[in-house]
Amino acid sequence: MTEILQEPKTGVIITGGASGIGRASARALAEVGRPVAIWDIDQALAESVAKEIATEFGVSTCAAKLDVRECERFAAAIGDARQALGTVGGLVHSAGVSHPVPVEELDEASWDLVLDINLRSHALLVKVLLPDLRSNRGSAIVGIASINAILGNGLNPAYSASKAGLLALSRSLADRLAADGIRVNTICPGYIRTPMQDEPLANVPGLEQAYERQCMLGRMGEPEEIGRVVRFLMSDEASFITAENIVVDGGVVPSQR
Ligand code: NAD
Repeated sequence: MTEILQEPKTGVIITGGASGIGRASARALAEVGRPVAIWDIDQALAESVAKEIATEFGVSTCAAKLDVRECERFAAAIGDARQALGTVGGLVHSAGVSHPVPVEELDEASWDLVLDINLRSHALLVKVLLPDLRSNRGSAIVGIASINAILGNGLNPAYSASKAGLLALSRSLADRLAADGIRVNTICPGYIRTPMQDEPLANVPGLEQAYERQCMLGRMGEPEEIGRVVRFLMSDEASFITAENIVVDGGVVPSQR
């Protein structure tokens, strides 16, 4: 007989939840009844996504204008999320930026910006969120990395390093937090059609075709195709998966090695 697992119904904080993969993850989680907190630097968009999800899926939602570099604001924002959602038993770190410059053109400010948002903030946020994660059954964390973490990218070393760091950070968190029943995993998306890709697709001739050529499935991915994997990793269906990375790229990584 197939065992039907009891899904955690605890709330989930999604950084960068107002757009792209973060928004799709929030929608996928809300679809199975998880309350969601949308954190983003874009307040108007965060509020409209929170409202849209509450209306469409009937779950509690809240929105916060928060730059994930503002670590001193985490405790208060978590408190607001706990109050609005009832509990917080999950985190999806999707906030991310890319400033593609090769090593010859690297400057300290853009290195720090990319590393701070993509990597540093995740470690510091998990630290402040621990009491909430520990006090709920089935808590889980998902970090959105990138195939650049595996393949590297000569035109984008800071971004690639930040995402590779996220993989190692997440395995370390998984090791430390397993005793508390908290699972920690990452996803490496390939080329996904989100607003982050709008500018490169508009400005680099032939980029979309290059993406398609690198991909066994011959197309860019949709944010919902990442959101569904986030939902799986946050659920009890993934109860024996921790310290793992799932590549969701339509077959780019195997064809590039
Ligand atoms: P997106 O631009 O649609 O979404 C990113 C969101 O993060 C935006 O809403 C933005 O306002 C928010 N954000 C940026 N800086 C922030 C900060 N300091 N604090 C809080 N929020 C902030 O892009 P996306 O493609 O959905 O990206 C989501 C994640 O997926 C990123 O971490 C990105 O690196 C990763 N990723 C994207 C792709 C792709 O092809 N789109 C591929 C691999 C990995």
